[in-house]
Amino acid sequence: MATTLFNLTGKVVIVTGGNGGIGLGMARGLAQAGATVAIVGRNEAKSADAVAELQQAGAKAIAVTADVTDKAAVAAMAERVLRDLGRIDILVNNAGINIRKPPQALDIAEWDSVLQTNLTSAFLCSQAVYPAMKAAGGGKIINIGSMMSIFGASFTPAYAASKGGIVQFTRSCACAWAADNIQANAVLPGWIDTDLTKRARQEIGGLHERVLARTPAARWGAIDDFAGIAVFLSSAASDFVTGTAIPVDGGYSIMG
Ligand code: NDP
Repeated sequence: MATTLFNLTGKVVIVTGGNGGIGLGMARGLAQAGATVAIVGRNEAKSADAVAELQQAGAKAIAVTADVTDKAAVAAMAERVLRDLGRIDILVNNAGINIRKPPQALDIAEWDSVLQTNLTSAFLCSQAVYPAMKAAGGGKIINIGSMMSIFGASFTPAYAASKGGIVQFTRSCACAWAADNIQANAVLPGWIDTDLTKRARQEIGGLHERVLARTPAARWGAIDDFAGIAVFLSSAASDFVTGTAIPVDGGYSIMG
């Protein structure tokens, strides 16, 4: 029963930012569960490496080069996936960036770039895949939030705004598209060892140890910690789960 419940054979999934970090961890899990994976990113070489890795493990995968802040590029990406893979069942809106500056120092171009990459991209990609999901009788959307969806932070105002927004956008899609049998959920990672956090670890003295001390699991997250939640939220096992925001953080968000 468990095998059937989590089996994604025949499903096609798009993972934005799937060529590294958390997106790659999710792509690995989804591929292992049988899904065909479209890896979306700007860096062609990185995407080719990710696809080669998935294919070597026996999965079907393609790379689609696209900037997810660009509406036309997103539309072309969805068309390419439909043309080459025939359907779109699951969308993981994972692409993200951060700019560390306090509100008074952030300029409008930096604000826009974070909001467009982390939030507007999820809107553009969800809108682009919706007709295919609706026509197929359902689908799954997974949006990647953050602990900053819950907490404020002095040095990441645009990031926190985008990640708060992603949860409300998720809930809105969950309401709007429930009748189409599309479930939309958010995942809120804690501190994960990826390129995104490398700079923060270099710049913030003692960050590594402080994260360890505050996290009940007493470790940083790894990208493969996201394989399971990706499979759950993509599979029939979560058909009655929608509009949620699930922390995957080793308990970080429950600590006072
Ligand atoms: P990484 O920097 O490792 O990966 C980010 C990915 O996003 C890259 O694959 C990059 O690919 C892609 N990307 C960025 N901008 C664009 C764009 N405009 N168009 C297409 N792809 C883009 O970061 P993480 O894996 O750490 O982060 C993944 C998600 O998880 C983000 O949304 C982040 O906010 C969130 N998160 C991460 C946490 C952490 O501790 N690491 C904590 C909480 C949330 P390319 O370079 O090819 O464009």
